[in-house]
Amino acid sequence: MFCFCNDFSVMVSLDGDQLYNDKLRHTKTGKGTHNTILNGIKNLLLYNTNGRISIRVTLTSINNDLIELTGYFSSLDLPFTIQLVTTNDAKLRPTFEELSSEIDDFGKYIIDLVKNKNYKEAFKRMFGWVNLAITAVHGKSKRFYPCGGGRKVLVVNPMGDVYICHRMDGSNSGKVGNIFEDAREEIIKNTRELFSEKLYAVDRLQDCSNCWAKYICGGRCYHESLITTNEWNTVDKLSCHFKKKLFELGLVLYAYLPDELRDNFSKTNKSKVIL
Ligand code: SF4
Repeated sequence: MFCFCNDFSVMVSLDGDQLYNDKLRHTKTGKGTHNTILNGIKNLLLYNTNGRISIRVTLTSINNDLIELTGYFSSLDLPFTIQLVTTNDAKLRPTFEELSSEIDDFGKYIIDLVKNKNYKEAFKRMFGWVNLAITAVHGKSKRFYPCGGGRKVLVVNPMGDVYICHRMDGSNSGKVGNIFEDAREEIIKNTRELFSEKLYAVDRLQDCSNCWAKYICGGRCYHESLITTNEWNTVDKLSCHFKKKLFELGLVLYAYLPDELRDNFSKTNKSKVIL
């Protein structure tokens, strides 16, 4: 209750239906977590959460069927996003070919939905990078950074450690202080220093400055860059491929949408068009 009265949002990790989630997310004794997670979501929904619960799906080589995944998550009737797994573990990383093939199949499926004017089903299945591309092109907006980490967002873990991103919790990279040990001013100063020294805008990134999608994307994810290359500003090629394919799909979908439905992707349009 405290969280929702104080404007917190809750993002829950869930990687598919019971079969797929429990292969990927289980306890030390091997017990699956799918039903526990769904029960937790149901308990949260007893409060007036006002759209502040969403699901984050981690895509791996085990759960990479996007038609199946989006079908399952759209049936839960909660906002969801699908992100590529960040790891160097080759067993969990899909290959370039697998990713391309899954995104192509999903693309054909969702473009057909739009061509057949089944917009409601298509909108329910759109996620993350697809929506971002449509929103950027519709709003003619530019992104210079991949996220708000260190600029608009700081994250505090239960020990009081402050990071620029929740995914960096537990590592020394991205830590800018501790709320029990450091004054607020010190934490802000550390964040500013980290930001100006390490976190380059997309135009300054060697890998990204000539990319056609740079102002939709904002450049490499800091966390992915650190995990895969131990550097702050290096693009993870597989993640880049994943994003670009989904940006392309978003732009194709935008071209097929009738004008009156494009405003569903306006940042300022609070009352979405009813389909
Ligand atoms: S799509 Fe890839 S190359 Fe282009 S800006 Fe994003 S991370 Fe950089």
